[in-house]
Amino acid sequence: MPRDFLKNVSDDYDVVVIGSGLAGLTSANILGRAGHRVLLLEQHYKLGGLATWFLRPGGHIFDVSLHGFPHGMIKSCRRYWNADIADRIIQLKNIRFDNPMFSLTTTFNRADFTSLLSTRFGIPLETVNAFFDTARGMNFYDDQSTTTRQLFDRFFPGREDVVRLLMEPITYANGSTLEDPAITYGIVFSNFMSKGVFIYQGGTDDLVARMKRELEKNHVEIAIRSPVDRIVVNDGQVCGVEVGGRRIGCRAVVSNANLRTTILDLLGPQALPADFVAETEAVRLNNSSTQVYMAMKPDVEIDPATGDLLFTSTAATFRTDLLLSRDISSRTFSFYYPDTRPGKPRRHAVVSSTNANWSDWAELSAADYEASKQELIDTTIDALEKYVPDARSKIDWVEAATPRTFNHYTQHQLGASFGTKFEGLGVSRALPQKIGGMYHAGSVGIIMSGWLGAINYGVIVSNEVDQRLSSGQPVG
Ligand SMILES: Cc1cc2nc3c(=O)[nH]c(=O)nc-3n(C[C@H](O)[C@H](O)[C@H](O)COP(=O)(O)OP(=O)(O)OC[C@H]3O[C@@H](n4cnc5c(N)ncnc54)[C@H](O)[C@@H]3O)c2cc1C
Repeated sequence: MPRDFLKNVSDDYDVVVIGSGLAGLTSANILGRAGHRVLLLEQHYKLGGLATWFLRPGGHIFDVSLHGFPHGMIKSCRRYWNADIADRIIQLKNIRFDNPMFSLTTTFNRADFTSLLSTRFGIPLETVNAFFDTARGMNFYDDQSTTTRQLFDRFFPGREDVVRLLMEPITYANGSTLEDPAITYGIVFSNFMSKGVFIYQGGTDDLVARMKRELEKNHVEIAIRSPVDRIVVNDGQVCGVEVGGRRIGCRAVVSNANLRTTILDLLGPQALPADFVAETEAVRLNNSSTQVYMAMKPDVEIDPATGDLLFTSTAATFRTDLLLSRDISSRTFSFYYPDTRPGKPRRHAVVSSTNANWSDWAELSAADYEASKQELIDTTIDALEKYVPDARSKIDWVEAATPRTFNHYTQHQLGASFGTKFEGLGVSRALPQKIGGMYHAGSVGIIMSGWLGAINYGVIVSNEVDQRLSSGQPVG
């Protein structure tokens, strides 16, 4: 008989959280800590969503999305999780770029970028400072019609090398492009520039295990392998969810599933005004990714000077379409050293990530899909050999993930790695005004994506849910 993952679950809660990505986990934790009765339902067998890892023979553990986040994670983790987690966040000091326009190493913060831009790229100091101040001053309520390309043209006209330095890491971090609103760039770039790039020392498995313990301490009930089929609405108010053939009652739902899935599938168009459904249908998903995971043989050491994060490209210029192309010219290598990613046995690993289009992978036949994955692996190892000599002979385990992999494990439409484009943020924020007690928290609008964005969005939304529950709003 199949195991019943809902066996210990009650019939009624204050809040049901659908999905255990970082936004869902954080919402559940804050609401549990505030004393609400919380049920967290995750369709996968692991918690974490895209903040995940996997183990392979030989003790190789690979992190999927632990490559770098801004310093703000320390404060968010300390406040909304615990000191144990916050204290394990450390800085990555060797951020490298290597492309036909320039090769350099940086600590990726304002002081170092100011020095690079003024001395190496010859940009007047006043221009550099004015650019940083403009980016830092951007917020959600600003004019959203200026694109990132227009922002760069204002400060650095004709300087494609500067655009590349400033844009390439952010495109990698949140999928934003030169055509997106400038605030999607400005906010995320400034977050990184405040102090540099950070990582969780110990790996995603350690982080998620600590988060799970904290959730349990705060009496959050958790059910894995529990895909929610439907959110139940009565008279304009959320009143429960349907999962595993059961109906579980609640006064509020926080959905961490993709925004479009939440509104168009889990709620369904009949539950919402037609204009809001149309607005949701117009929300564009962000791009997906491919990755190649490479673990080195036990005796192989990688020289730390190789870098922590290495942004490589063989393309002559920076172009959005080239970054997404199936014909890969840009790769970001994350190097995991035994001190940034401790583990037993002691190992070095490298993960190569590239932004990708769902359409390039979705329709491939089984044979073409396998061949394309192998080609991705082979060309990536070729590219790595420039930085890790004889890499091919040093690798103990290698495999690849594609947009289909991300779709498979998270159910995200088109395997979206970073939620939705900017217009998704307004739709996500408006949802509680359309259905009482219905909230969405998760990667949307580029700004609210990535580890820090997702956690912070979980904080914002859980505060709203707490206010509603504490104000004694009616049960639907
Ligand atoms: C290849 C890659 C590299 C990345 N690198 C970085 C990085 O270096 N730094 C960084 O900050 N960010 C990175 N990101 C982005 C970051 O991982 C995500 O933005 C963030 O983890 C998303 O969190 P989330 O809360 O939006 O939810 P998600 O992680 O998207 O999780 C949503 C959860 O909902 C569950 N779910 C969906 N539908 C249902 C349902 N019906 N019932 C129950 N459960 C459901 C899913 O299974 C999943 O667990 C990367 C992403 C990818 C793909």
